[in-house]
Amino acid sequence: MFETTIAGSLPKPGWLAETDKLWPAWRAEGAELAKAKRDATLLWLKEQEDAGIDIVTDGEQSRQHFVHGFLEFVEGIDFEHKVKMGIRNNRYDAMVPVVVGPLKLKGRVHQTEALVMRSHSRRKIKITLPGPMTIVDTIADRHYGDKVKLAMAFAALLNQEARALEKDGVDVIQFDEPAFNVYMDDVTKWGIAALHRAIRGLKKAKTCVHICYGYGIKANLDWKETLGGEWRQYEQIFPALAKSKLDQVSLECIHSKVPVDLLKLLKGKDVLVGVIDVASDKVETAEEVCSTIKKALKYVPKKHLFPCTNCGMAPMSREIARAKLKALAAGAALARKRYR
Ligand code: ZN
Repeated sequence: MFETTIAGSLPKPGWLAETDKLWPAWRAEGAELAKAKRDATLLWLKEQEDAGIDIVTDGEQSRQHFVHGFLEFVEGIDFEHKVKMGIRNNRYDAMVPVVVGPLKLKGRVHQTEALVMRSHSRRKIKITLPGPMTIVDTIADRHYGDKVKLAMAFAALLNQEARALEKDGVDVIQFDEPAFNVYMDDVTKWGIAALHRAIRGLKKAKTCVHICYGYGIKANLDWKETLGGEWRQYEQIFPALAKSKLDQVSLECIHSKVPVDLLKLLKGKDVLVGVIDVASDKVETAEEVCSTIKKALKYVPKKHLFPCTNCGMAPMSREIARAKLKALAAGAALARKRYR
C-alpha cells in the first residue's frame, strides 16, 4: 500500500554535468561520458533505495533534457540548425531542433539505464519517455507538415523503445505530457490516441502518463500566477484519461491550486499523487506528506494511491533532492500506519 515513486528526474552530480540547469552541458564526452552517466545512474538508484523509494528510476542521468534526450536517438532531425520557437503555447522560447525527413530510431535509447537498474535492483523500476504531444510541442517541423501525423510518427518510435524496455525488465513506462495541461482540446482529439499508439502491444509493464505544471523554473512560476485561484485544467482531460488504456496518471498536488476533488475523475486508475513540491527548496515533513495523502484518499482508493513528487527534481541541489526523497518515503510510511 502507498508504494512510493518519483516523477522521474533527479539532479546530476557536478562531475557529470553543469548543476542547477535545465539544459546542462556534459563534463565529458565519448566513452568517458558514457561511464559517468552509468555511475550517476547507479548512484541515484542506491540513493532512492536507501531513502525508501519503492519504484525507482534512472533519475534521467543520461539525458540532457527530458525531450531532447530521446530526440538525439532519432534519425530525420537536424540538431545543427536549431530554431527559436515559443513552446507550451508561447510560455517560453526554446532553441529547438527541426524535423527534416522521415523519422526512424537510430537504435536503443535507454537500454543501458534499464539494464543497469535491472541488474542492481530488486525493486520495481521505471523509465520515463517524453509523450508524443510534448515532443511535437518542443520541435520544429519541415517534413510532415501536420501535427497529428508528426505525433503519430513519434508515437511509433516511442512504442518501439517501450516494447524493448519491457523486454529489458522495466516494470513501469511513463510518458511525460506537460503539454496536456496546455492544449486540453487536443488531448481528447489526438493526444490520448497518440499515447495509445505508444503503448500498443505492451503486456507486462504498467503504463503511466505524467501531467504537471512544469519544473520550478521562473517561466513556469510566472505562468502559474496567470492561472487564477483554482487550476482546473485537469478537469477537462481526466474524464478522457479515465477511459483510456493507460494504467496510471501522475499529477501535481501539494502546494498547487489543483482542487483535490478533481482526482475523483480518474476512477479506476492508479494515481501518482504529488506530495513533494519541486518548486521549493523547503523540505516537506513526514506529517505534511501524510496530510496530502490523507486529502487525496478522499477521492482515490488506497490501492490506487501512489505517493510521488509533483514533477522532476533535475534543477534542484542534490542535498535537497535527497532530503525530499527521504521525506516522501517517511510520509508514506506514516500514512501506511495511520490509514491501513
Ligand atoms: Zn513534470
